[in-house]
Amino acid sequence: MILVTVVTIFPEMFPGALAFSLLGAGLGKFWLLKVIDIREFATDKHKTVDDRPFGGGAGMVMKADVVDIALKAALNFYSQLPKIIFMTPRGHVFSQKIAKEIMDGNDAGIIILCGRYEGIDQRVIDFWKKRYNMRDVSIGDYILFGGEIPAMVIIDSCLRLIPGIMNNTESTSSESFSIDLLEYPQYTKPRSWNSEDVPSILLSGNHKEIAEWRTKKAEEITKNVRPDLWKSYKK
Ligand code: SAM
Repeated sequence: MILVTVVTIFPEMFPGALAFSLLGAGLGKFWLLKVIDIREFATDKHKTVDDRPFGGGAGMVMKADVVDIALKAALNFYSQLPKIIFMTPRGHVFSQKIAKEIMDGNDAGIIILCGRYEGIDQRVIDFWKKRYNMRDVSIGDYILFGGEIPAMVIIDSCLRLIPGIMNNTESTSSESFSIDLLEYPQYTKPRSWNSEDVPSILLSGNHKEIAEWRTKKAEEITKNVRPDLWKSYKK
């Protein structure tokens, strides 16, 4: 059972979307979720978690002292050092490769720190990177209001890799990105829809030819849509 702890000022956002489908069915069976409310660790009577940035500028910055205590409370749940991730647009862009790195041999679990406002005081980020190997992860080149939705993306993608959580383990190995190829197109009933028929090869029962057709389609799609992936696939 893998323990995931989310550190956030909006604990009520969880489990949210994570409670649905196979991932939701696996909650309590394959994985456990704990949520730390950063605000509970604020020491003043107003429960302040943020303040104005030194040097001026727009917005507010989350306070190093409060975030540090909240992270330590999360760490207390673990007997071994878990993978610790800080959601930030300044991080390495998340990918299937990073999901595998997070999950490979990971018996300890995951802590995810979510920022809000203009972000978090850099000193607590630097300390946790140096002391606890926290890594910066972005979910793409755009800015969201907070790290909670990015955290859900990471959790969904990483937990999908838990052996047994999916009914069909084969589907993770043939999916897009597993071998630097996007996945081939999929079809289901009805055989004919909107004057379009399902490609006849898929009805042939010839597994070898179906596999060849799927590889050809996956290659065509990757070449057209993602020349960067195509280049590393062809290496
Ligand atoms: N001022 C920051 C900057 O320009 O880099 C953006 C702060 S953003 C409004 C607030 C929080 O949302 C961030 O601290 C981070 O936790 C989260 N966030 C926003 N966009 C993200 C992204 N693309 N990937 C991961 N986290 C993101």
